[in-house]
Amino acid sequence: MYTIAIDGPSGSGKSTAAKLAARRLGCQYLDTGAMYRAVAVGCLGAGVDHEDAAGIAAVCRDMELDISTNPDDQYVRLAGDDITAYIRTPEVAAWVSAVATNPACRTELVRRQQAILASDSFVAEGRDITTVVAPDAAVRVLLTADPGARLARRGAELGGQVDAAGLRDQVLRRDQDDSTLVNFTTAADGVVTIDSTHLTPEQVVAQILLLAEAAGIIA
Ligand code: C5P
Repeated sequence: MYTIAIDGPSGSGKSTAAKLAARRLGCQYLDTGAMYRAVAVGCLGAGVDHEDAAGIAAVCRDMELDISTNPDDQYVRLAGDDITAYIRTPEVAAWVSAVATNPACRTELVRRQQAILASDSFVAEGRDITTVVAPDAAVRVLLTADPGARLARRGAELGGQVDAAGLRDQVLRRDQDDSTLVNFTTAADGVVTIDSTHLTPEQVVAQILLLAEAAGIIA
């Protein structure tokens, strides 16, 4: 069993590359950002104020979360409700920093993520996988990209539904808020930086697979 850990900011292309790498390797895929988003959905549903740290932590601790780890069939269910599409909405994106900056939530989500990763071989992506969730992962990558490229990618993903100010809020403001508790802008010791600004997803995956080969995961 192995873990390939990929961290990076919004729009760095981590989800696309991580999912593709998991398909190539025939292993599981864990989108840890979806777990933070699911807590935000739980808080919105429960009417918790985003300044109510204890309330947010309680939602996180008690939530019944079912997250798919099949790279070809991704879904997220909260207490049986399918929230797969809802977690990608601007409403949830605007809320999620309150979850990501809550230390009790981070502790609980890291615990759940480590339990999932202990069950099988994974490509896992997020902000703190290389440093906190799986510091002993066989392959550890920090995926970066210039702010311009990141804004353009997130904009394309959202299908032009969000204006320029909204996009900057979702990408640059969110990264700044998120980085108060986790550092995902500089690579920790032993973490390989891949700059995806001028790379296609295929080229990023090719580099990840080379690292997997060097780590002895694939022949
Ligand atoms: O990757 P994605 O944009 O879906 O992540 C949503 C949010 O979850 C991020 O903005 C960040 O606040 C938080 N997150 C985190 N640690 C992770 C993964 C995501 O703080 N490992």
